[in-house]
Amino acid sequence: MGDLLKGISSFRGDVFPDHSALYRKLAREGQSPQALMISCADSRVMPETITQSGPGELFVCRNAGNIVPPFQTLNGGVSSAIEYAVVALGVRDIIICGHSDCGAMKGLCHPDALGKMPNVAAWLKHSHAAHSIVCEAYPPSLDEKEKVRAVAMENVVVQLDHLRTHPSVAAKLAKSEVTLHGWFFDIETGDVLVYDGAAARFTEIRDHQALPVAVRGRGVPHVIPATAPMAAE
Ligand SMILES: [Zn+2]
Repeated sequence: MGDLLKGISSFRGDVFPDHSALYRKLAREGQSPQALMISCADSRVMPETITQSGPGELFVCRNAGNIVPPFQTLNGGVSSAIEYAVVALGVRDIIICGHSDCGAMKGLCHPDALGKMPNVAAWLKHSHAAHSIVCEAYPPSLDEKEKVRAVAMENVVVQLDHLRTHPSVAAKLAKSEVTLHGWFFDIETGDVLVYDGAAARFTEIRDHQALPVAVRGRGVPHVIPATAPMAAE
C-alpha cells in the first residue's frame, strides 16, 4: 500500500494543482463523458491511459473479461452502468475493449482451473459462445497463445451482441443516437485493433481514415410499413 499512498500524495501535491480549475468545473457542472468504455479489470489495461482521456471524459465499467451479461430483469452492476451512461449521461459511443493475455479468457479455455473460483466460473458463462466459436470454427492448429487471443477477440464480438439486448441501447441504436465499438488492446505492443462490423474482422487504426465501427445506429425503424393494417388477435 505504500506506493499507493505515495501516489495519492503526489497526485495531491504535484498533479491536482495543475488541473484544479478543471476539477472545480466538473464538480460544479457534473460529468458529461463522451463515451462508455467496458474493459477488463486487468491491471495492465488502463482505459484512460490507452485513450489519453482526462477527468470527466470517459465513463468506465470494468470487470473480469469485459463482459456484458445479456439483458435480464435481475439487477446487475454492468447493466446499471450501461443504463446510466446511455439514459442519464447520453453517451454517444460505447466501447467494449478486450485485450491480449486475458486471464478470464484463459479460464474459459481451462475451466478445470476455476474449481476454487465458482463466481468466476459462473460469470464466464456469458463468454462461452466465444470459446465455442474458436473451438469449432477456427483451425485446430492454433497454439495456446493464439487460441486465447482468438477467444478474447471473439468475446468482444459476443459482448457487442449482448449489448444490443439492453433496451436502452437498442432504442438509441434505432434512433442512430449511439454507436458501438469493439476494441482489442495488445499489452505487449500497445496497439489497439478495432472491430469493423461491416467486414466482420479486427483491423488496425490508420491515420486519416474513418474509424471502423462495430454497429452503427440504423436510423428510424422501418420494420412495419406505415400503411400495413394491424393484425387482429
Ligand atoms: Zn482480461
